[in-house]
Amino acid sequence: MSTSVPLIVRLLASSVSVAGRAGKIVRDVMSKGELGIVEKAKDDYQTEADRSAQRCIIASLSAQYPKINIIGEEDNPDNEGDVCSDWLTIDADKEVLRLECPSELQGIKEEDIVVWVDPLDGTSEYTQGFLEHVTVLIGISVNEKPVAGVIHQPYYKNVGSENKTGRTIWGLQEIGVGGFTPAPPPNSLIITTTRSHSNPVVEKALQVMNASQILRVGGAGFKVLQLLEGKASVYVFASPGCKKWDTCAPEAILSAAGGKLTDILGHNYKYGATESRPNKTGVLAAVNADLHNYALNRIPQELKDKLANK
Ligand code: AMP
Ligand code: MG
Ligand code: MG
Repeated sequence: MSTSVPLIVRLLASSVSVAGRAGKIVRDVMSKGELGIVEKAKDDYQTEADRSAQRCIIASLSAQYPKINIIGEEDNPDNEGDVCSDWLTIDADKEVLRLECPSELQGIKEEDIVVWVDPLDGTSEYTQGFLEHVTVLIGISVNEKPVAGVIHQPYYKNVGSENKTGRTIWGLQEIGVGGFTPAPPPNSLIITTTRSHSNPVVEKALQVMNASQILRVGGAGFKVLQLLEGKASVYVFASPGCKKWDTCAPEAILSAAGGKLTDILGHNYKYGATESRPNKTGVLAAVNADLHNYALNRIPQELKDKLANK
């Protein structure tokens, strides 16, 4: 690959390719039927697909970008660097390689970058057979801010092309998004939220929205896709359950498409390597700043205080 391509563009192109490879691992584990489910914490699961997909992504990216700090969701009991050659992916997506480099990111070095990897977002849904909710997330942050990202859907059915399963959506600050066709928001207020991690505070934040419909789907990646594809306009999750690897890629892509993702108080998360993993003050995302502001103003102060003081 030509090194004349700017670092951030090369890294995004490599991430698109390796996310597709990880998606194949996710499908292969399911076809084999030996999921190897481990309960990491209450309502928090890991399968062989989460472990293997992460090994593939981290080994492939760190082989090419040795000085980038790559943080993955899973603690792999097996040796992280020990992957079969079939998993090592050093391809780079040709279309993404042709993108322009955002002016702000022209001089960056590997040391300035933190990559957040969720090898399988929506593990509950994966184990329960809601396969279309499953995504592979690779988020790229520079100086604590998400600037680029990839959401790969291993089970996306490509209409008219029976043999090609899966698709990969990307976003790059200042440049835009690709891999799909963005759609305008629905005419009425449709909110998307968790399918499997609700609680009374999460429900209270939904009740106050005055929405015409609530779309309960799995994964932070799939929920942000609902926003990008015009199926919902706001994503509300008043819970500390999401982590940095859940929101980094979706936030980068949503922002590149003109949307906004913050916590429930309207503050941006920071994505430096030393930041705490949990997004303690929840997630509030919308397709544009006006809808984000509407939702932010609807959430009662006492609910905001409750999450902030947890
Ligand atoms: P959900 O919206 O419930 O599909 O969750 C989005 C992401 O946040 C997934 O990676 C979940 O595993 C994670 N998450 C959300 N709530 C919790 C929770 N209570 N415990 C563990 N993980 C959670
Ligand atoms: Mg996740
Ligand atoms: Mg995960």
